[in-house]
Amino acid sequence: MSSEDQKIKLSSRILKALSFFLLFISIIIVIFSTATNQIDYNLLMLGFGFLFLSAILGSIAGEGIIKIKYETLTELRCTNKDCKFLQYNKFNFGDYVFKILKKCDLCKKGDIFIQNIFHIKETEAKKLMEQATTGASI
Ligand SMILES: [Zn+2]
Repeated sequence: MSSEDQKIKLSSRILKALSFFLLFISIIIVIFSTATNQIDYNLLMLGFGFLFLSAILGSIAGEGIIKIKYETLTELRCTNKDCKFLQYNKFNFGDYVFKILKKCDLCKKGDIFIQNIFHIKETEAKKLMEQATTGASI
């Protein structure tokens, strides 16, 4: 797990905790404002204000305005077993596993085909796409 994931998890946890805390405070304020014979409307409004804030924070933490983005990649290899060709591309519509794309520029013998299609975090996808063993783009 990368440190970025942990940060996202932590900040979402903090938001959730904050949301619960505000909910708790707002309930206390609402109870307190209606406990006396004369209802304190200012305090009551404050209580509902906190409640509203708590709901917003809760939904941000739960639904993920903080969200990990994913990318679908295709892993390209050469049919020639001795060839070191390896490249990761963004998934294109119509891609499938074992689809042959073109002749290999690296060994001039094999064909480049899609070995794998997978889902990965956007940050890791960028790293993979940079570490191709050939500069040739497809
Ligand atoms: Zn090759």
